Amino acid sequence: MAYSYEAPVSQSLFDRASVVTPGGVNSPVRAFRAVGGTPRFMVSGTGPYLTDADGREYVDLVCSWGPMILGHSHPEVIAAVQDAVSRGTSFGTPGEGEVALAEEIVARIEPVEQVRLVSSGTEATMSAIRLARGFTGRAKVVKFAGCYHGHVDALLAAAGSGVATFGLPDTPGVTGATAGDTVVLPYNDLDAVRAAFAAHPGEIACVITEASPGNMGVVPPADGFNAGLKELCASNGALYISDEVMTGFRTSKAGWYGVDGVRPDLMTFGKVMGGGFPAAAFGGRGDVMAHLAPAGPVYQAGTLSGNPVATAAGLAQLRLLDDAAYAKIDAVSAELRSLVGDALTKEGVAHTVSAASNMFSVFFTDRPVRDYEDAKKQDVFRFTAFFHSMLEQGVYLPPSAFESWFVSTAHDERAVARIAAALPAAARAASEATA
Ligand code: PLP
Repeated sequence: MAYSYEAPVSQSLFDRASVVTPGGVNSPVRAFRAVGGTPRFMVSGTGPYLTDADGREYVDLVCSWGPMILGHSHPEVIAAVQDAVSRGTSFGTPGEGEVALAEEIVARIEPVEQVRLVSSGTEATMSAIRLARGFTGRAKVVKFAGCYHGHVDALLAAAGSGVATFGLPDTPGVTGATAGDTVVLPYNDLDAVRAAFAAHPGEIACVITEASPGNMGVVPPADGFNAGLKELCASNGALYISDEVMTGFRTSKAGWYGVDGVRPDLMTFGKVMGGGFPAAAFGGRGDVMAHLAPAGPVYQAGTLSGNPVATAAGLAQLRLLDDAAYAKIDAVSAELRSLVGDALTKEGVAHTVSAASNMFSVFFTDRPVRDYEDAKKQDVFRFTAFFHSMLEQGVYLPPSAFESWFVSTAHDERAVARIAAALPAAARAASEATA
């Protein structure tokens, strides 16, 4: 596919990057491989807008893949960061900021009695699984196809495949031994979970699930799915781990737990709670967390865990996220969903706008999407055409048909109007696209 618009400065940066960095990026999906074209190198962000190295401005519907829920460069977050930086960047000792951030998390999310801060969502899920194994004395982990929990070896097993029942390494570098303790099941299928517990009595340490998945596009849990998982875990002596790295502090004040009220044993967080800095966490039941070093025997540590600048940013962001902020995000999300749906309907493009609270994505199919296999059946080539038309018109969407779109409190009428103005041509491009 050829693109009629150019980004010469981004292209030259990408050329330079490709010499010194594999694929030219530090996280694969940034490379635009799924959609083609030149990844945009961004130089600044303000409110709902990003500006690239060629000086073009975009309305941002990626929000750094979730964290920037107040928009870019929020003055109060920036002030908190500047204040923290002025006092030093890392001490390798405990600090009050960590306590305050942990207190904020515990206050918001009732099942979290204790929390440990880490630096990435990957670290959070990796540590939660180690803790679950240490606590239960069992080895096996159940995960669902299409759910992404970071690049933890055991959790990459069949992360992109809905067919394998037993973990097969999905990437070179993950050994069969590591993947062999991972049981991969189809999402939204409680019978499969029941069968896995029956097949491995006394062996399953935990079931980990995205609280509401956003990494195969947005595919919310069917009614009763999370509650069923919790029940099956409880009756089989396994822990229920809800990965809220994406949904946490976004889908409500208390994340997805605030939406469905199903009480996990352990939870993981990241993205929003770091205010744009590397901060993440895992937490949950006090008796389980008590097994973590130095209180207990399960080792876990981090040089930069609870970093004072990251915790200051996260705390400032969380404190600004009150009921009014969530009402604003929910309203913007609802408006965009209806604008996108209307534009695609008008052009006769088969689609499903799938939402979980204010997270949403568009599947280019009108068949129901309940799991990863369904998600893969969409017309991805239509998304590609839609994406490039939006990009050309100054709207930055996730460069993949299998990602959530994110909005912020900064997405005001002007930003929404710019998106609305771009949609008719993008919908037309999607309708005219050929496989
Ligand atoms: N869990 C979920 C649900 C995620 O969406 C992600 C990242 O997108 C992760 C874990 C991993 O987080 P990180 O990229 O901070 O390692």
